[in-house]
Amino acid sequence: MKTPLLSVVIPLLNEEKNLLPLYGELSTTTKQLEHFKHYEFIFVNDGSCDNSLDVLKKLATADDRVKIISFIRNFGHENATYAGIHHAKGDAVVLIDADRQDPADLIIEFEKHYIEGYDIVFGQRTKRLNESWLKKCTSTLFYPLFKKLTKVDMPSNTGDFCLLSRKAVTTFKLLPENQVFVRGLIYWSGLPKKAVPFVRRSRASGTSKYNYTKLTIFALENIISFSTVPMYALVFGSLGLIALCSLGGLIALVMKILGLVVMTGWTSLMLALLFLFACNFFALGILGIYISKIFQELKQRPMFVVSELIGIEANTTAIGANYAYLKK
Ligand code: UDP
Ligand code: MG
Repeated sequence: MKTPLLSVVIPLLNEEKNLLPLYGELSTTTKQLEHFKHYEFIFVNDGSCDNSLDVLKKLATADDRVKIISFIRNFGHENATYAGIHHAKGDAVVLIDADRQDPADLIIEFEKHYIEGYDIVFGQRTKRLNESWLKKCTSTLFYPLFKKLTKVDMPSNTGDFCLLSRKAVTTFKLLPENQVFVRGLIYWSGLPKKAVPFVRRSRASGTSKYNYTKLTIFALENIISFSTVPMYALVFGSLGLIALCSLGGLIALVMKILGLVVMTGWTSLMLALLFLFACNFFALGILGIYISKIFQELKQRPMFVVSELIGIEANTTAIGANYAYLKK
């Protein structure tokens, strides 16, 4: 029987100081696994401009389990994770960030639930150390909203830190879009999942690459990618406003006919006008995001350009024409 292989996918951007300690943690953890006896650590270098790639190359020379996919420039965390999943050969695939916020030893727990038969085993954050209250608040709001609007049962307080069975990976790879929200696509399948609670540590070194503007765009785009509810909300919202305005008009007309004083006041008029204009621009914005999504998908551009592959084969058979390799 083939010895089960575990692939660990690590997307990274400028994480030179975190790579050696992370590699150490992963090596120690994988030694303690019961089921998986073979491993590959797929580091996806998402256009780092520090020494991350050199550090990885040294690791790869010393340890052939270390594999590198290096992008020519930064294509984003989601695309880097996507590339890692598509190149992973394992019977199961673990996704973990490079900044050591996710404790690698949780993989031991993940494996136990994988053996029990779960296809998606994910880390659920019970606490987030050193994260601002605004980040905590926005993420508390995002998950229920996403679930409500999209009908995708994505659990609250999760990141990408998870273990996926080969079945979950195959389902993920079937989804042909090239604007990816990895987490959304993972839970879209509806495969059996199990949460493993953990405390999310603060970053070991470096800074987060997501600021509030990026996070807002991320939340809006991902909800819109998975749901048409915002469009219907616009239709029903405007119908409601039309009904309200008609009622107001009718009341004013009746009052006029009865000779009663018709509402006066410039302020209320201006406020109503401004409010309606704001609604209009908001609606246009939502439509704009849908159109931009269609535009991006239609172009079918490759999701990344690989400049170097070390210890790993090019995967050109993956969905569509999502890949472009400068070298193989
Ligand atoms: N990352 C990446 N490409 C990017 C941004 C981030 O590969 O464009 C990596 C980053 O190095 C880290 C992971 O994605 O390993 C999560 O990023 P980050 O820690 O900045 O996100 P946060 O934990 O603050 O949500
Ligand atoms: Mg982080």
